[in-house]
Amino acid sequence: MQVFKTVKVKVFNPTRVKETFLDLLIENGKLLNYYVRVMAERKVVSKTVLHELTYSELRKSSSLPSALLQSARDKALEAFKSYLSKKKKGLKVSVPVFSGGAPVRLDSRTFKIIRTDNKLEFFASVSTCSGRMFVPLLGQRHQYMYLRKLLNEELGMACVELVKRGNDFFFYVVVKREVTIKEPDANSVPVGVDLGLNNVSTSVIWKDKPLSVRFFSGRKSIAVRNHFNEFRKQLMRFKKLWRVKKSKYKEKCFMQDLNHKVSAVIVKQALQVKNPVIVLEDLKHIRNRLKSSKKLNGLLHSWTFSQLQLFIEYKAAWNGIPVVYVSPKFSSQRCNKCGFTSKSNRVGSVFKCKKCGYELNADLNAAINLAKTFSSSYMFGEAGNVAMPLTVAVKKRLPKNVSVVDHGSLRL
Ligand SMILES: [Zn+2]
Repeated sequence: MQVFKTVKVKVFNPTRVKETFLDLLIENGKLLNYYVRVMAERKVVSKTVLHELTYSELRKSSSLPSALLQSARDKALEAFKSYLSKKKKGLKVSVPVFSGGAPVRLDSRTFKIIRTDNKLEFFASVSTCSGRMFVPLLGQRHQYMYLRKLLNEELGMACVELVKRGNDFFFYVVVKREVTIKEPDANSVPVGVDLGLNNVSTSVIWKDKPLSVRFFSGRKSIAVRNHFNEFRKQLMRFKKLWRVKKSKYKEKCFMQDLNHKVSAVIVKQALQVKNPVIVLEDLKHIRNRLKSSKKLNGLLHSWTFSQLQLFIEYKAAWNGIPVVYVSPKFSSQRCNKCGFTSKSNRVGSVFKCKKCGYELNADLNAAINLAKTFSSSYMFGEAGNVAMPLTVAVKKRLPKNVSVVDHGSLRL
């Protein structure tokens, strides 16, 4: 199957570049709206007909090269079709309107990456209203790595968008590769991943014994999020609603960044062994399971476990690793040694078996149980510990296009 990743690179933009790109964005926005208007008025949703209706007119009036006209047409068409299908379902939607800041879609005709001997290693050659333009690209080491692989044809280019964020311009380059994700079987080595608050994740490679254990502490994220909550309470008192909104956005970015880091750690760990399978818990019950302390309940509401799982799925798929979901039933109460299950086995962050006396970190015990649930499903079939059939998540949930996103960290 094909997997995708979005690499965001910043454009080094002196005034001249900025002006040209602003022109391009404005022209592109006008064009998208023009296409939508034609489709709405003439009731057209065919690419060919739309092309015939607009092409000669646009060749005269628009300064954009024809490849950019085509990309914009396709983008407008997709937006309009999605509007129609929503409308058909009875949803309240209005005809799409694009602002002058809408991203410009590019492709291999209108965007090329060039490697130079310059201090800035990579340049992009982009079609604009005033001809082709060469702009230097700024990125971090791992982003450069993807660009290098793209030029070596180890990766393919799916699509590119020119995006304006604040005063800066970025290229969102979506790269793709072909991977084979092996169906997990009895020989797969499970990596059990327990999610929580005190430890955001606890992951263990299990091969009859724990081969490697990783904890990702939640201490910092709890502190940061409490800070955000307190801060917002104060803002609410002074009715600074705009700043509340901004703070919520910042928190969302913080969480997203954290989830990227955690998922990267887990996938990297899984790559240590041959034939790994990442075992996640089915999240339906997580909120009940974690309802342990009042202090943390507020945080739970906005905790983004499903985003974290999705990031793990994407990153695992990128590396050809299958992901399965198992029921977490009793995974935090069951002793992974003797199987004795009781609520009283767990006291805070410590697990101590009431029957055999085995003692270890409670999150680690849960992670081991998840890994063992996977293994036992092959030994005993569903009569074992698996309360629901294993589902191979990746095939089902990976969207057609995009996007694991690489981005910088947030400054608080
Ligand atoms: Zn025990």
